Amino acid sequence: MSVFRQLSLFGLLSLLLISTVRAESNSTIVIDSARLFDGEHVIEQARMVIENDTIIAVGSQQEIALPAQARHLSYANRFIMPGLIAAHSHVGTVSGLQHGGDFYSRETVMRDLAQFQRYGVVAVNALGLNRPLFHELRNEMRGSHHRGADLYGAGAGVGAIDGAPPKGRMGLTEDQAERPATPAAARLAVKQMNDAGIDMVKVWVDGMGGDVPTMPAEIYQAAFEEAHALGLPSAAHIHYLDDAKGVVAAGVNVVAHGVRDTDVDQEFIDLMLAGDVWYVPTININEAEYIYAQHPEWLHDPFFTASLSPELQQQLSDDSWREAALAKSEKNRQSVNYNIKNLTKLHNAGVKIALGTDSGATALRIPGFAEHRELELMVQAGMSTTSVLQAATANAAAMMQLPNRGRLAAGYQADFMVLSADPTFNILASRQIVEVWRYGIQQEKF
Ligand SMILES: [Zn+2]
Repeated sequence: MSVFRQLSLFGLLSLLLISTVRAESNSTIVIDSARLFDGEHVIEQARMVIENDTIIAVGSQQEIALPAQARHLSYANRFIMPGLIAAHSHVGTVSGLQHGGDFYSRETVMRDLAQFQRYGVVAVNALGLNRPLFHELRNEMRGSHHRGADLYGAGAGVGAIDGAPPKGRMGLTEDQAERPATPAAARLAVKQMNDAGIDMVKVWVDGMGGDVPTMPAEIYQAAFEEAHALGLPSAAHIHYLDDAKGVVAAGVNVVAHGVRDTDVDQEFIDLMLAGDVWYVPTININEAEYIYAQHPEWLHDPFFTASLSPELQQQLSDDSWREAALAKSEKNRQSVNYNIKNLTKLHNAGVKIALGTDSGATALRIPGFAEHRELELMVQAGMSTTSVLQAATANAAAMMQLPNRGRLAAGYQADFMVLSADPTFNILASRQIVEVWRYGIQQEKF
């Protein structure tokens, strides 16, 4: 919180300065709107001043004088909020109905990032399963020149020998996960990924229902320790409460999935709070297996269908596929129920929550749409709309240690969505996207 306090102090100072500082050139843009969510609070009759790619002031129209020589855009009935940040996704691994490492390319990564941006997502944390090309792309696919969400991520990630991430089920190539046999090898793997260029360390700790061996604790502990030593945050894939407790006790920074096998207990809540650990529920990861079969009418919603490949659209319209998906949905429904119940408990206990869905990992985990659906599911878990929007913006940025993103405040990057309805009243309004701006440039207009 201290970082935020300093920044809002900086915001206040800039606010005082803005009325005395003349606009230097017509690279200054003033945006007025009925309401604006700054990442934490709503401001009525809002004004935001942008210079080049950076916000220099945000406040009410009474507080901030209209600078001379600025381009003035008035969005009288619109709502403005920071662009969404997807803190757990994957890129470049889906083609039609299939997924796997063979599809990973500059084109498929760019395709996914472009789709994310059309859905208002301005930054994506590609949390593992990246091939070596990732290290090149994370430089290339960031910035105002690139038409798509900015790419961040974990490189390949650290998996278990013969375990998660499961090679067969995920169609993985050898280079999509390192599988160290010893703590020393785990440290070396993390160091090498860091040398190649990553933003976070990803570790998979999950026995996949007893089907595969779980990663030994000394291996993941070594990976987390090396990440800390290198100044990198670490994240763990878990499913079970016991594994979640293990990774948190071992010093992980992010629990990258919800606990889905049982109710979380006070011991886990205390561990999360004591370690100041982030929690990314990814409710949609299990729901995606049946929810589209359950809602064929969504195929009439252009916001949904715009996210589908022709192959996926055809599958979702197929009655026999729908029947089969619904017939085997019981276990995933249970996981969703636990995930929602546990999110309620953890959020109420004060655990920090960030938006993530695991979108992009398989065809049914749909980039962009999954994020908006997750917002709705988080509201179903009892979070207030503003807490949910904060999880999707300021919190996701803080989790990814992005110091100038996720908020609309002085000194922050000008990444935002213009909406035609107010998601603080009804979260579904997050889908009413009129424009998407990134780096102070209007990137999408609908
Ligand atoms: Zn994932």
